[in-house]
Amino acid sequence: MTERDKRILFDFVDACAMHRCPICTLVQRAEQRTLAVYCAEGAGDQQRRADVRAARGLCATHGSQLCDAKDAMAAAVTAYDVLTNLQRDLTALRSNSRGWRRRGIAQPLPCPVCVDMQRYNRAICAGIGVWSNEESLQQALMSSQGICGPHLRTISRQSGVSDGFWSAQFLAWQRLHDELGEFIRKRDDRFRHERQASEADSWKRAWHQISGEVLNDITKE
Ligand SMILES: [Zn+2]
Ligand SMILES: [Zn+2]
Repeated sequence: MTERDKRILFDFVDACAMHRCPICTLVQRAEQRTLAVYCAEGAGDQQRRADVRAARGLCATHGSQLCDAKDAMAAAVTAYDVLTNLQRDLTALRSNSRGWRRRGIAQPLPCPVCVDMQRYNRAICAGIGVWSNEESLQQALMSSQGICGPHLRTISRQSGVSDGFWSAQFLAWQRLHDELGEFIRKRDDRFRHERQASEADSWKRAWHQISGEVLNDITKE
């Protein structure tokens, strides 16, 4: 077992304390880290710059996260690169405009942050499957909101995931299901006078669990 494998276990247990899917939490932290490192290096990572050029930018989500990273210079030099290439595409298109059949602008490569996160997502899901029999993981999962639907489906395709793991996940979702039922019950006129408790935001948490919080491109296999 490598240090990196153990790290997945510790990070997962830690992320279970948040009120959302622990794997979504880890992927979102990795997204922020990736963009922060890129900005901290002043967009000087030449390989990354080349990948962004080949993708003609970043997807809408990661593009807006780069702007939110508050490093105007890194965002500006990256945008300069990308616009140079977009202009080239446009020039090529115009020079080809009298062709018998216009081919359009070629589809760029996928967003490089999405590609990195897909890889990370697969590694985390595989690591959780390997650690699924660990008691500390099962305890943390049982006390958490649970793993979201998209991530659970990914883990379910692995072999050897322990039954204790599925049982912990079931209990986490059962608690949420009960809270939702309580929320709905208190909407009935007969019970409206009862004060709302922990179930007040259960409908929001339930939708986080149903849809997950990371891009479909990242969770697809
Ligand atoms: Zn998730
Ligand atoms: Zn992306």
